[in-house]
Amino acid sequence: MNHQTNGQEPCRLCGLLDQLCRSHVLPEMAYANVIDYTSHPRMVAVRDAKKGKISETHHQTGFWERLLCKKCEMKFSRYETYAAKHLLNAQLTPPTGSASRLSVLKVTDYARLKLFFLSMLWRVGVASGDFFRGVDLGKHANQLQQMLRTENPGELDDYGCLLTRFLPERDVPVEQILIPPRTTRTHDGHNGCLLAFRGFAFQYYISRHRIPTGVKAAFLNKNGHLGICWMRMRDIPPLRDSWNRCVAAIRREAKPNSA
Ligand SMILES: [Zn+2]
Repeated sequence: MNHQTNGQEPCRLCGLLDQLCRSHVLPEMAYANVIDYTSHPRMVAVRDAKKGKISETHHQTGFWERLLCKKCEMKFSRYETYAAKHLLNAQLTPPTGSASRLSVLKVTDYARLKLFFLSMLWRVGVASGDFFRGVDLGKHANQLQQMLRTENPGELDDYGCLLTRFLPERDVPVEQILIPPRTTRTHDGHNGCLLAFRGFAFQYYISRHRIPTGVKAAFLNKNGHLGICWMRMRDIPPLRDSWNRCVAAIRREAKPNSA
């Protein structure tokens, strides 16, 4: 406990001076049971850099930073509770039949789930930890901050997020893979940001113009429909490398003390 009175800092979201909370940059569940092959048997993550360990020493509680005042933290945690219940912890069934890889999730609260997506994007953008160094949102960090301050979920293509659920794999627990978030550029020139945890990939589209119709149709819309694309993680080009590294790590880990 910190009993100092001068330990106040401005909240990164609202600017209020307060004792800032230890805010998880990604939802706490993102870190649950994550595979780690370097330090802790249950924790963290597939890294992009081949060498160099994840420098945070607090990873047993996930990656946190002092970002938010209590009020903003509560606000974000309401979004997160909603997202956990209806998406991240929900029992989703993969579509059957070979024709469709897409399923549609229906939620009742567009604003809350959308604000959850926006809050994650903003947090990985403002976080300063080494794990998040691959994300630079530039001026969009301010724009997201404005939206979040006023709890404005925006239109469907304001920072739309294309969601992929990894198909289950026989010997790899895909829910336990966490990759370092990073800024991406799609083949058609869209700036984006890619997160993957808890068996999902979150591909954000930062620029709004000329987003392919199919992609746009899958974004969470105001009727609460969210398209979920089901794929094997290894079949997603920007994740293939992380996948390979993860599988190698699991095999290494399995060798010494396989049950
Ligand atoms: Zn605040």
